[in-house]
Amino acid sequence: MSLKKKTAQPPPPAGRHETVRREIISAIAGRPLSIKYISAAVKISEKEIYAHLRHIGRTVNSRGQRLVITPAECRRCGFVFRKREKFKRPGRCPVCRAETIKEPLFGIR
Ligand SMILES: [Zn+2]
Repeated sequence: MSLKKKTAQPPPPAGRHETVRREIISAIAGRPLSIKYISAAVKISEKEIYAHLRHIGRTVNSRGQRLVITPAECRRCGFVFRKREKFKRPGRCPVCRAETIKEPLFGIR
């Protein structure tokens, strides 16, 4: 049996989403980060960060900035996952089938 703690929490109070987005924006404004690092910096799950990033893209656009995604890349053959650049880290390379994939990075420019 798993000893994992339940992570279910009550819905966040109004305004919490805005705060988290600001934290994510300031975390990635200096240098691009992977989802894993953003998750550690802001202390929310990777899944939640995906949802926030979509919103952040629109927020920074309205300020004349852009959410810049460095696509995932295969470490073995260098294949770049351009079509999969939307957030999720691919499982394996379609060309050489390696599972050593460099995670996509998210930044703001
Ligand atoms: Zn490959």
